[in-house]
Amino acid sequence: MNNQVQEHNSTIDRGIMCRICGGNVQEFIDLGRQPLSDAFLTPAEIADEFFYRLRVGVCESCSMVQQLDEVPRERMFHAAYPYVSAGSVRMREHFASTAREFLDTELTGQDPFIVEIGSNDGSMLGTVHAAGVRHLGVEPCSGVADVARAAGIRVRSDFFEESVGAEIAAEHGRAEVVFAANTMCHIPYLDSIFRGIDALLASDGVFVFEDPYLGDVVDKVSFDQIYDEHFYLFSATSVAAMARRFDFELVDVRRLPVHGGEVRYTIARAGARTPSAAVAELVADERTRGLAELPTLRKFAAEVDQICRDLERTLVELRAGGMHVVGYGATAKSATVINYAGIGPELVTCVFDSTPAKTGRQMPGSHIPVVPAAGFADYEADCAVLFAWNHAEEILAKEQAFAERGGRWLLYVPNVRLV
Ligand SMILES: [Zn+2]
Repeated sequence: MNNQVQEHNSTIDRGIMCRICGGNVQEFIDLGRQPLSDAFLTPAEIADEFFYRLRVGVCESCSMVQQLDEVPRERMFHAAYPYVSAGSVRMREHFASTAREFLDTELTGQDPFIVEIGSNDGSMLGTVHAAGVRHLGVEPCSGVADVARAAGIRVRSDFFEESVGAEIAAEHGRAEVVFAANTMCHIPYLDSIFRGIDALLASDGVFVFEDPYLGDVVDKVSFDQIYDEHFYLFSATSVAAMARRFDFELVDVRRLPVHGGEVRYTIARAGARTPSAAVAELVADERTRGLAELPTLRKFAAEVDQICRDLERTLVELRAGGMHVVGYGATAKSATVINYAGIGPELVTCVFDSTPAKTGRQMPGSHIPVVPAAGFADYEADCAVLFAWNHAEEILAKEQAFAERGGRWLLYVPNVRLV
């Protein structure tokens, strides 16, 4: 018990109370002691590395899937936050087309205004800015915010919350669109977010957000979508219940192929818009398959255990056979699989990545060195674990030469296999 207290001394342990509705949360998976997924370390930082316990449960009342411990937000989102949206060609295209869609549908009135929560490097707002439409990004990580500012995008350096929403409305007027991509699931205090949206959103405005979808995580056993920053795993059922709780309504859902499977949720003020048939269809589908029910989620947890055992065994066998194994993609989500499966530098020599803020540092928890992706083509590896599996198509095409000289890719979602 003493150990546990020490390990958790900087997290907020909420026990079993739902962060959204106060209902009872049933734990279904414990991924053990985990580091912060984006804390890439210099050798001097290793002694003070932060760990917490990654446990996830589901609320019996509102179906929200959520972590049981909260990591303080300043530990995760700060000046040196290394993730950039523009790191992938496909994500740049995705956000440009998202912006064009808003410009064509919601931002057509006189002098419209759009706010993005967690605007990162401005991948979405860049297109809005180019169209001459009023916009504001809200971004607590100053490194990526400065990248957006350098491109002429307006950014407020802040965590979005109730007071920030009210201040923006007072200064700029109400927004026709509030957008957030891969941000809402990061934020435990969604009650404050919704109050901020209430203050900021125009009467017929929409709050649109996209995040990894619980249905895809369960189907693909993509358990590495569970890490410190992904506090919630949303479904149409849980988002609809959450919206109702805060006097809003889920009026549209759209499944997206990005990041291993996401859903884009469109929320409006209660009664302001007619919900699309897609909402009822997805909620009904989730009910039919028992998506947020304990037997489904416990089966998922058992599959996760199996994958991690298979992955570790495969790596041990490859090494025993004299194979030289490396990793590809020092993604945030790789922290979960690497640390839960117990993979260290003795199994995976190094991880290749193209993000300058990560290279020259060590992977969180496992301390595997991160090296520049540019060196991969000339590196004598026999096998590469593809930690960035959500960008598999893009990476396998780019690194075609590796497979052509006999290199094998090791994938682990939805099961462990060499290709
Ligand atoms: Zn709940």
